[in-house]
Amino acid sequence: MAGFTLPDLPYDFDALEPYIDARTMEIHHDKHHAGYTNKLNAALEGHGALESKSIEEILRGIDGVPEDIRTAVRNNGGGYANHSLFWTVMSPDGGGEPDDDLAAAIADTFGSFAQFKETFSNTASGRFGSGWGWLVLDGGGNLHVYSTANQDSPYMQGHIPILGLDVWEHAYYLHYQNRRGDYISNWWNVVDWAQVAKNFEESR
Ligand code: MN
Repeated sequence: MAGFTLPDLPYDFDALEPYIDARTMEIHHDKHHAGYTNKLNAALEGHGALESKSIEEILRGIDGVPEDIRTAVRNNGGGYANHSLFWTVMSPDGGGEPDDDLAAAIADTFGSFAQFKETFSNTASGRFGSGWGWLVLDGGGNLHVYSTANQDSPYMQGHIPILGLDVWEHAYYLHYQNRRGDYISNWWNVVDWAQVAKNFEESR
């Protein structure tokens, strides 16, 4: 069995209340993220060359993954990596705005923090069906906002995700039902900009 392990949540299930409810966090982490982790490990079993790589390396090389396991690795490896990032970019002490270099880069790219926030929110809310909203760095160190379908990861197109928002219904349905827009506007209150800035500094 390959060795990817489910990371612990860095806070309690109820830490992001009232914006994200405890029951959603518990099911999301203990069932959904655990499921992606187990299925990723099962798919990689017996594929020694892949088992020794990091999840980022595997996703960057998704087109070279053997065809019989490629879809399983795409879905579950993406799910594993996306959720591993997602927990860390939220915090009970989150919200507000970034500062320093990340703030400057966001203003340069999107015009202002408010415009970035609007673009990101519209992109995430407009993703049809299940997927993610992203703030990523490309190979040239430029920021982009886009969404991906299902569990597709920005690593699959050579980008580095520094902020991600899960817009699968399992991320919000218990508390928000069909109101994805309310989930997104509340989510900004828990975004951990210190962590996103760290991701930015380490990735560029
Ligand atoms: Mn999810």
